[in-house]
Amino acid sequence: MSGGPSVCDLEHIGRALGVTEIRRESTHERGRLIRVPGGYKIEVRESLDALDVRFIVAHELTHLIIERFDLLDAIAPQPGSSFSRTVSYDFLERLCDAGARELLFPMVDLRRHLRGQAPSIELVRRFAVDRACSLPVATHRICESGFWQCRFLWWGYARDQLFAERAIDARGELSTKELLHVSLADPTTSLAWRALSSGSTLSGDETLMIWDTPATYRAQAVATRDNQVVEMLLRN
Ligand SMILES: [Zn+2]
Repeated sequence: MSGGPSVCDLEHIGRALGVTEIRRESTHERGRLIRVPGGYKIEVRESLDALDVRFIVAHELTHLIIERFDLLDAIAPQPGSSFSRTVSYDFLERLCDAGARELLFPMVDLRRHLRGQAPSIELVRRFAVDRACSLPVATHRICESGFWQCRFLWWGYARDQLFAERAIDARGELSTKELLHVSLADPTTSLAWRALSSGSTLSGDETLMIWDTPATYRAQAVATRDNQVVEMLLRN
């Protein structure tokens, strides 16, 4: 074994599960699984970028894996309770998102690579590139692993201001409503702003206002394409 990163071959898994075609379509849904003669077809919205397409395909494959192996009844809180007939749509979708993250970036693989490594946003970026998964998927995995006790914030830039666009912590993604109450304590001197202005990766302290309460974190911030800043926040 080389020990190098392994990129999940989704088409191979798809073929093993009876997927005969994966194609981009101008569909409203991000992705969907359709039963066709002789197997299944996966359709993915054509405007999505390649890494998002991989996530959607992995999500749809997880639907198939769950169905094929009766996994819902296997995880039923009470054996024999026909759990599969009572779970909500949201629960199933979250389960398939979790399955997609596991396919793209297996936890056992992540833990092996995190062992002995200090928290580093550059390392997370490299993980994402090496596994051909998006940065949000890689950051979600880091949070789920519990290895670094951190959270990630995405700052968007508009009208000379940075605003919280996305946040991921150990519980998952914050809702849009929750994000409205997260801001930078001092936008012009913030690490996020300096990372955006300099176009480089910076480390230091970052103070956020969460509701009306200041909270200071050790942080690393990196500017990405499209005038975004991703910040990793660690407990001080
Ligand atoms: Zn789904």
